[in-house]
Amino acid sequence: MTAYLPDATHAPTLTSWVASANDPASDFPIQNLPYGRFRHAGSKAPWRVGVAIGDAILDLTLAATAEGWSEAARAALEPLARGDLNAFMAAGVTVRRELRAALSRALAQGSAQQAALAGALLPQAEAEYALPCHIGDYTDFYTGIHHATTVGKLFRPDNPLLPNYKWVPIGYHGRSSSIGVSGQRFHRPLGQVKLPEAEVPVLAPSRRLDYELELGAFVGQPNALGEPVALADAEDHLFGVVLLNDWSARDVQAWEYQPLGPFLAKNFATTVSPWIVTMEALAPFRVPFTRPEGEPAPLPYLDGAANRERGALDLHFEVLIQTAQMREHGAAPVRLSRSNFRDAWWTLAQMLAHHTVGGCNLQPGDLLGSGTQSGPGADEAGSLLELSQGGRQPLALPNGETRTFLLDGDCIVLRGRCEADGARAIGFGDCIGTVLPARAAAA
Ligand code: MN
Repeated sequence: MTAYLPDATHAPTLTSWVASANDPASDFPIQNLPYGRFRHAGSKAPWRVGVAIGDAILDLTLAATAEGWSEAARAALEPLARGDLNAFMAAGVTVRRELRAALSRALAQGSAQQAALAGALLPQAEAEYALPCHIGDYTDFYTGIHHATTVGKLFRPDNPLLPNYKWVPIGYHGRSSSIGVSGQRFHRPLGQVKLPEAEVPVLAPSRRLDYELELGAFVGQPNALGEPVALADAEDHLFGVVLLNDWSARDVQAWEYQPLGPFLAKNFATTVSPWIVTMEALAPFRVPFTRPEGEPAPLPYLDGAANRERGALDLHFEVLIQTAQMREHGAAPVRLSRSNFRDAWWTLAQMLAHHTVGGCNLQPGDLLGSGTQSGPGADEAGSLLELSQGGRQPLALPNGETRTFLLDGDCIVLRGRCEADGARAIGFGDCIGTVLPARAAAA
């Protein structure tokens, strides 16, 4: 089991020769070093793997040709220089750490490689992004207990949390083909909905389109079919995290979800942020995993000393909206809510250990969604379903508009940032998605 403890690459005093990385407001200081796939905007060039640094991208295809890398770093760079992030993810923690240390030295103030690497930088403003890796399978969990309770109350006022909730990391197998990178624009989905007063359902554009604020965790090192990953080893199989918006059609969901769970209500679009923040970068922001007094302890296969001591993550989330009208008037997005991943009922390691306990094999690039991350406060809800109390209480926006659910043209922005005493803060970059009008139903 790898302990993700801060090392020299996290030193808050460390600065980069890429000056914009030293701006305290930057999401991408030298202590972060997240991976993504990019190309020059508007070009048809193959996607390349890069590392975000300040307001630039270090192009690893170009960087790999520079002098001065150690043999280990050169070997680690080989799949990345080919644009294959999945192969690097599969290589595991030791290789990843080796390269993190090398990149940190290479980008640090006073680096002997500065001259060789200066030509390998592209301004982020000139880039466009692909999904950071190939995503074979996608599973969405339900670890936000405040979300589960509030939503459960809407459906079952007397019995909001089902009896299994506090014992099982609840999840469902989602759809990877419709996952897109930040900037995704998708049409309002059609679906089967049954209005409360109607006797029969109709096919119609969803009228209760929603977002869900989630954290997404990428699998790195795989496990073989039939070989569960123990909780103590689970983090060795995680590569890093992104912000994830699990767009949801609540009216479709309400009609279809029993008895087998979400289906078309959630398979039309899912948006992730472009940069995978590695497990190493998150080291200074790990916090104890605790349960309130009187709550059941996890079963032994989901319990362990390392998970209790530092299994959770102090990660601040923010959700913002920019309506079409706001955009026309040049108004910036406005905040809908804030919350923190500390409030999740399960840790990332518990999600992974549970996923594999029956023998399921996870592969490099598989994505695990955390479920909607809502905090205990009414203004900490990670979906409109909660903020509007099931659509009963419209939200007033500063420009005079109101929302219960999303309207065409609405753009949702997710942001995430980690801060801790004695550490340089890091961020995720925006996760943005926009709702387009529904298309006509196929004849
Ligand atoms: Mn979800």
